[in-house]
Amino acid sequence: AKESGRGQLCLFSPEMNQRVFEYLWLDTNLRKALEHQQLIIHYQPKISPDGKVNSAEALVRWLSPERGLIPPNEFIAYAEESGLIVPLGRWVMLTALQQILAWRRQGIFLRVAVNVSARQLIDQSIYNDLKQALQQNGISVSPIDIELTESCLIDNEQQALHLMHQFRQLGAEVHLDDFGTGYSSLSQLARVPIDAIKLDQSFVRDVDERPISQSLVRAIVAVAKALHLRVIAEGVETAKEEQFLLENGVDERQGYYYGKPMPADMLEHWLAQRPA
Ligand code: C2E
Ligand code: CA
Ligand code: CA
Ligand code: CA
Repeated sequence: AKESGRGQLCLFSPEMNQRVFEYLWLDTNLRKALEHQQLIIHYQPKISPDGKVNSAEALVRWLSPERGLIPPNEFIAYAEESGLIVPLGRWVMLTALQQILAWRRQGIFLRVAVNVSARQLIDQSIYNDLKQALQQNGISVSPIDIELTESCLIDNEQQALHLMHQFRQLGAEVHLDDFGTGYSSLSQLARVPIDAIKLDQSFVRDVDERPISQSLVRAIVAVAKALHLRVIAEGVETAKEEQFLLENGVDERQGYYYGKPMPADMLEHWLAQRPA
């Protein structure tokens, strides 16, 4: 923002104008996007300790007729603020479940992890949706897992903890996303009902060359192991990063080094081409 005089902010700087404009654009168009099926899910494979792929992460994209492919970083924050994240999140979860069932019919058995943000945990609806969808499809153990951003725990702790227990009772794993950034505290880890933490990309990036990242990864792994939590590395891009992680006890991996997020049919081809 522009400064006009002492500590006074000029309200309508060009930059701010643009932000307002963007907000209004999203306000009219994201709702329509949901109604008109303009959202798509890309699936990014996760590599298990045994080298197999048992799971993928669902990452939403918006195929806008006006602007082309829009990445989630450009609309998720707006969706959270406006409350649209609730129907959007429901759509992602139910679409991922239908995809899992379609894959099963083709002999492909994958779990899918969906991203869940604080705003989605304000009520029971996301849990109820999953439970109902599982029942309707005769599924007894959830093949959907949950990746929670850490801020969830801060914003509404009691509710969040309760929902995490409930998800796990359905057979969903709960993973803490972006671990090590934001307001996380290690002591918090002991209290939350989770199965794994996802080591944030910032620690994985060039970890083979960065002593500080190396120390942090080792420390986080030690704490996680003591609490019987698995550690999943995201954002693995090179063989050297992978090597460091494997040598230091991080054996679940995800990143461009293995496969980018891709449409379901591309993932099928990617899986078929992988050496068994
Ligand atoms: P995230 O959950 O931390 O997802 C990881 C992001 O890193 C994804 O970006 C993914 O495409 C990208 N990525 C994966 N491997 C690599 C790599 O090796 N190198 C680099 N540089 N990047 C990698 P994407 O798909 O743009 O998603 C951004 C964020 O948007 C996600 O971060 C997540 O917080 C949010 N998001 C995506 N889909 C949903 C959704 O359905 N619901 C909610 N609430 N949030 C979502
Ligand atoms: Ca995630
Ligand atoms: Ca992340
Ligand atoms: Ca690198």
